[in-house]
Amino acid sequence: MSAGIPCAVLGATGVVGQRLVARLARHPWFELAHLCASEKSAGKRYADACEWRLGPERGPAHGGLGERIVESCDPASVATPLVFSALDTEPARELEPAFARAGSFVASNASAFRTASDVPIVIPELNPSHLELVHAQRKARGWRGAIVCKPNCTTVPVALPLFVLDAAFGVEAVHATSLQAVSGAGWPGVPSLDILGNVVPFIRGEEEKLEQETLKLLGRVRADGIEPASFAVSAACHRVPVENGHMVAVSVRLRGAPSPESVRSVLSNWRPSSLEHALPSAPQRALVLHEAENRPQPRLDAEAHDGMAVHVGRVRRCAVLGIQFSALVHNAERGAAGGNVLYAELARARGLLS
Ligand code: NAP
Repeated sequence: MSAGIPCAVLGATGVVGQRLVARLARHPWFELAHLCASEKSAGKRYADACEWRLGPERGPAHGGLGERIVESCDPASVATPLVFSALDTEPARELEPAFARAGSFVASNASAFRTASDVPIVIPELNPSHLELVHAQRKARGWRGAIVCKPNCTTVPVALPLFVLDAAFGVEAVHATSLQAVSGAGWPGVPSLDILGNVVPFIRGEEEKLEQETLKLLGRVRADGIEPASFAVSAACHRVPVENGHMVAVSVRLRGAPSPESVRSVLSNWRPSSLEHALPSAPQRALVLHEAENRPQPRLDAEAHDGMAVHVGRVRRCAVLGIQFSALVHNAERGAAGGNVLYAELARARGLLS
């Protein structure tokens, strides 16, 4: 019997929920005690409620938990110190605070609370200090638990390299154009007739999220919230017929107009601090700089480092803003389930799980 911290997954049958189950079923610190989903799934065996869509590289089907009975997302019966939420935004709006009030640390994939000033969005290698906002949140909201979010999946490959470049040079302006995989829309997601052989130049709310969350991630913690960074960010988001892996073409104006060579050198030499690097789900390399002129690519690179690395390549001169590069992340791993588990590990390492 594992002595890990008991945890629950809300939305365990979905695209992100399945990946959380795959990770948590073999986790050294956390013990997966409850699989929860909607009333449609509650009461069924997990194997019957959830059509497993992951290959053997992510472990046994249903995380080996196919006989478990799926439960309702009810904080009265699912009382665990740690809850991973892979709920759609609407149910998250009601259920995540209910779990926080009941005392759970809610690690959320949903966007329902990301813009709240007392709710941190965390990438452990980038802004670990933002987790401390949990104390102010507990005081302000009068609950024992907490809600902490991961950023939107498309924000991750933009924010991490910008954070490194901001520390080295200072970021002045950013333009980002995304090419986002279909799995980012969940299951069943975008109808195949809309996306096969096509590109859809609109994903509701995505451009606003990329713009606002990048500034929040690179902002400073104040007593009662985050003061966002103040440079200009403009985003254009597209859905493309790729299964997994969001690509983003980023142009950035950096203070002092450094050369592409200096930017490459800064990116390839950067390493996160030792605590963040030592967490069980941390990849060997959080930021991988590619030298080949045609990398990174979703099919070739998204799964590398257990889907947990941000890949950057094609660092070159931009005639408009000075520097441009291509960035890639596995949207459902580092961009969702893996990123979610990683900052829960950081919260545990910092003693924030009540
Ligand atoms: P999904 O495949 O549609 O799964 C949604 C999950 O929520 C299912 O388990 C569903 O259970 C459950 N659910 C729906 N309504 C519910 C309700 N009223 N009460 C309780 N459970 C309910 O979605 P997804 O792609 O996994 O996304 C989950 C969340 O992660 C979303 O907020 C999304 O924006 C975010 N996210 C997704 C990605 C990605 O790459 N897909 C990346 C980053 C963030 P049933 O099966 O029982 O209906």
